[in-house]
Amino acid sequence: MKQTESHTRPRILIIYTGGTIGMIEDPCTHTLSPFDFNHLIDNVPKIKMLDYDIEHIQFDPPIDSSNINPGHWQQIASEIGRNYNHFDGFVVLHGTDTMAYTASALSFMLEHLHKPVIITGSQLPIGEVRTDGEENLITALQIAAAVDPINGEPMVQEVAILFENYLWRGNRSTKMSADNFNAFKSNNYPQLAKIGLSIQFNIDSLWRLHDRLPLKVHTGLNTDVIIVYVNPGMTERSLRQQLETPGVKGVVLKTYGAGNAPTCEWFQRAVRDTVDRGVVVLNVTQCVNGGVQQKRYATGNHLAQAGVISGHDLTTEAALTKMMFLFGTGLTPRQVANSLLHPICGEMTI
Ligand code: ASP
Repeated sequence: MKQTESHTRPRILIIYTGGTIGMIEDPCTHTLSPFDFNHLIDNVPKIKMLDYDIEHIQFDPPIDSSNINPGHWQQIASEIGRNYNHFDGFVVLHGTDTMAYTASALSFMLEHLHKPVIITGSQLPIGEVRTDGEENLITALQIAAAVDPINGEPMVQEVAILFENYLWRGNRSTKMSADNFNAFKSNNYPQLAKIGLSIQFNIDSLWRLHDRLPLKVHTGLNTDVIIVYVNPGMTERSLRQQLETPGVKGVVLKTYGAGNAPTCEWFQRAVRDTVDRGVVVLNVTQCVNGGVQQKRYATGNHLAQAGVISGHDLTTEAALTKMMFLFGTGLTPRQVANSLLHPICGEMTI
C-alpha cells in the first residue's frame, strides 16, 4: 500500500484512451481526431521534471469519447486490475464528452479500490499554444502520486475527475460546459481538492474504505438499461414505446424538479405496468442541483406508489451505470431494486 517497499519514486500508469487532449487537426477536413500517445507526451516535456516512474498503455486506436461503450470500461477496469499491485496510482486520459459516464462506471466496477484512479483530458489539444491539457496531465499525475503525510497511504483512494481547478468524485461529476476550462462539476458533492498554487485536498470529502480487502474488478455490465426523459410533449405512445422496448430491465426516469411527473391516467398506468412487468424504474431529477423527494408533491408520490425507486441526488451518469453494474452482477430485478436504495461508493446522499 505504501510507497516504500522497494520503490521510493511513485509509479504511475497512464491509460490513454483518446479525447481532445491527444488530438490533431486533419489538414483536409480541419476536424480533430485522436492521435497516438508519443505525440501527446512529446508535447509535455515538463513531465520529465516529475521524479516518477511512468508507464503507459494506449487504446489502439485512441478514440473520441463519443465512441466509448461499456466494452471500453471493461478494458480500462481490467488493465487497472492487472496492474494494480505494480503501480501507486493510475491516470486515465479520456475525452470529456463521456468522461463522467466512464468515471461513474469505473467507480462501481473497481470494488475495494484503495488507490487513485484520476481521469483527465482537456478542452484544447495538447499541441495548441493555449492548451489546458499540459496542466491537467501534470496535475493528474501529481494527484495520482500524492500520499497522506501522516500514514503514507494514497491521498485519493477512489475514481476522480481532475479538470482545471478542481478534483471531483467521479460518480458525482457531470460535464457542465463545452467551452470552459473548468468543464466539470459535482453539483451535489463538495470538491475533493482545489487546484491553485498548491493542491489543497478537502480531507473530509475524500472517500475512505476501512476494509483492507483486495481489489475486485467487476467486468459484467448489462446494457438493458435506458434513460427516459420526461417532457411536456410526451404522449402515451412515445412513453410506452420507450418503456416497452423489448429486453429492457431497467429505466432511469429523468423527472422534473424534486422527482415529479404528470399525474394523468395514461402516464400513471404506463409506469405502473412497467414496474408490474418487473422492470426496475429509478427516478432522477433533470435539475443539475438537488435531488428527488418523491413524497413531496402528489406529482412525485404517484411514482413512489407505483414502485418507482428514488435516486435521491444521483447524477444521470451514476444512475445509468449503477443499474448496468447491478444487473451485470447477475442480481434479480428485486435484488437490484433493493441495492439501488443504498449508496455503493459515495455516489448518493440519502
Ligand atoms: N469529443 C471529444 C471527446 O470526448 C471532446 C473532448 O475530449 O473534450 O473525445
